[in-house]
Amino acid sequence: MIPANLIAKKRDGKNLSKDEISWFITNYVSGEISEEQMASLLMAILFQGMNEIETFTLVEVMIDSGSKLDFSNSNYYVADKHSTGGIGDKVSLILAPLMAAAGLQIPMIAGRGLSFTGGTIDKLESIPGFNTSPSLETFNSWVDLNNCAIISQSDQICPADKKLYALRDQTGTVPSNPLICGSIMSKKIASGISGLVLDLKVGNGAFLKNYESAKKLGVWMKKIGEAFGLTTDILFTSMDQPLGRSAGLSCEVLESMDALRGDGSEDLMDITYQLGSKLLIQSNITTDIKESENLQRSLINDGKAFEKFEAMVKVQGGTLEKLETTSHPSNEVSILSNADGVITRMDTEKIGWALVELGCGRKSPKSSLDNTAGIQFLKKIGDEVHENEPIYHLFNSNPKLLNSAKRMLKKTFEIKDSLKKDFRLVLGEF
Ligand code: URA
Repeated sequence: MIPANLIAKKRDGKNLSKDEISWFITNYVSGEISEEQMASLLMAILFQGMNEIETFTLVEVMIDSGSKLDFSNSNYYVADKHSTGGIGDKVSLILAPLMAAAGLQIPMIAGRGLSFTGGTIDKLESIPGFNTSPSLETFNSWVDLNNCAIISQSDQICPADKKLYALRDQTGTVPSNPLICGSIMSKKIASGISGLVLDLKVGNGAFLKNYESAKKLGVWMKKIGEAFGLTTDILFTSMDQPLGRSAGLSCEVLESMDALRGDGSEDLMDITYQLGSKLLIQSNITTDIKESENLQRSLINDGKAFEKFEAMVKVQGGTLEKLETTSHPSNEVSILSNADGVITRMDTEKIGWALVELGCGRKSPKSSLDNTAGIQFLKKIGDEVHENEPIYHLFNSNPKLLNSAKRMLKKTFEIKDSLKKDFRLVLGEF
């Protein structure tokens, strides 16, 4: 086969066969197909899409690019959660230890920052010493020991996603339903879990800008999950504003620690509990939402969830004691309101790009991240504001980038006399 012919075939809107998809991805992973050729195929897929059979094949080929884990002998219900990505979405950091404290086993394979959205792995790596790339044997031993561990795709597990993910991040090829489906479902299926809950983010700060397209993706993901024996529940949640009180790197770890100690913001805990309830009910640990939420609250109130988080960090080599000092930014500035009124809209994608500018994401493959960088959201949709009151507080350790991010953030909120339509956090489920 000739790469340029297959790229042209997809460019012209034709379907690729199973052999063609398999050949292209396999040769890309082995280095036979160049980054330029792969990027071109990704762009062609982004514009022309893939049908259900092509998407299913993509998932299969991506799973088969590496090893698969096997938890079939586990004494626990083995499950995971994944989100399609957003701003301030730190739910994985809270949910993994919370579910482990509830009696599930969570071998989580997560990703780095993708385009304008933050990544669980980058956030965790802001903890000094935290190892997200162990061998699979070590990962298994961590899961055995503590019932939860979080690692990244690697050369051993889902190498196709490892390479494609980094390439999509740099080439504007993330918002494509088949590529999102391939990326997420291959990681989750390869990790050998039995249950999955997906948080499909919808809105101006998500890759899925409208609910219709998100529902289509959700139907495919559920179908593919179940074809591989994975019980899959889906929640659709709004990303029309950032989630929680902050977005960035170490600031999100610190906010997650607060949440695990009982001081989480209402929106963050609402989504965490709803996703957690799906897994608890799947595992038969609880039978309904009320019981599931009560269990999660009690695990937070009695400190068990936080203990699991501390144990996970320790097992993975991290030192939380050092985070207080390493997270300290050398520059900070506030953005003030220019009027009295109510916040009616936030341009969440632009906030995400401002976070990349601050140092929380990669402008090029070699970019290094600034673990101290982030934004605190002092006002959100529906909040009253007065002229000169701070809306955002932003911080990092590079004054030039702080100033450019400040300029980017100035037009990311709208203030009017009143809010016409209430903000809805959870849009649907199935
Ligand atoms: N998360 C992933 O792992 N992959 C995507 O494509 C989007 C979000």
